[in-house]
Amino acid sequence: MSDVSTKAPVIRLRGVSRTFTGPVDVTALHPTDLEVAQGEFLAVIGPSGSGKSTLLNLLGLLDRPSGGTYELGGVDVASLKDRERTAFRGHGIGFVFQSFHLLPYRTATENVVLAQLYVTRSRARRTEEAVAALRQVGLGHRLDALPPTMSGGERQRVAIARALVNRPELLLCDEPTGNLDSDNSELILRLFEQLHAAGQTIVVITHDHEVARRAGRSVTIRDGVLRDTVEAIGGT
Ligand code: ADP
Ligand code: MG
Repeated sequence: MSDVSTKAPVIRLRGVSRTFTGPVDVTALHPTDLEVAQGEFLAVIGPSGSGKSTLLNLLGLLDRPSGGTYELGGVDVASLKDRERTAFRGHGIGFVFQSFHLLPYRTATENVVLAQLYVTRSRARRTEEAVAALRQVGLGHRLDALPPTMSGGERQRVAIARALVNRPELLLCDEPTGNLDSDNSELILRLFEQLHAAGQTIVVITHDHEVARRAGRSVTIRDGVLRDTVEAIGGT
């Protein structure tokens, strides 16, 4: 690998905040600084209502901050026009959600092929890339399976293959083990560890302490305030 120390961090938040205005304003995220280096595997852990989805939506360019600056891959994303933002999101970020969001009447391969709308690749090349991504997540034997015939863990692996197929700078996951039993969660965590070892930058937002234990670094969010996790995780 090339020299990591000379690279800009993948994520750099400077004083990023989000306030929802209404009869009573709610500051869901207080001014936050966060850097995620290339190749890092970061877990953001916090209880319900702590601001996790707010942070995820900002990191994923699904929402705009009320204040502060966000650089993703060295680009100040506030400078992007709507269409550029959408394209940037399509290329730069692979999303994995708790509920897998697969098309039920399409095979695993077709689900991953369809994620390549933003890239200029021939139909044959899209299929090759989809098969390669499915093999990467250990599903080389399930290429033609339909999602309803797959286990939860297999479905989540299809979703991860779909997120990876465009080689995003950032894999951004929202409660990726939230719908899985412990055996399937374990498979997904091992997959994240493999991807991390291969250099993929991963941010997982979760309330699952096991995920945080397995990540390279974890930060805690509570009442919209992000902190380094200092103590052994446990308790509350
Ligand atoms: P989490 O994902 O950790 O459960 P959220 O980021 O969804 O937390 O919410 C954090 C806080 O912001 C909560 O108090 C929530 O009620 C509030 N909030 C989230 N989205 C909105 C919104 N669109 N309008 C008003 N308040 C919101
Ligand atoms: Mg949430």
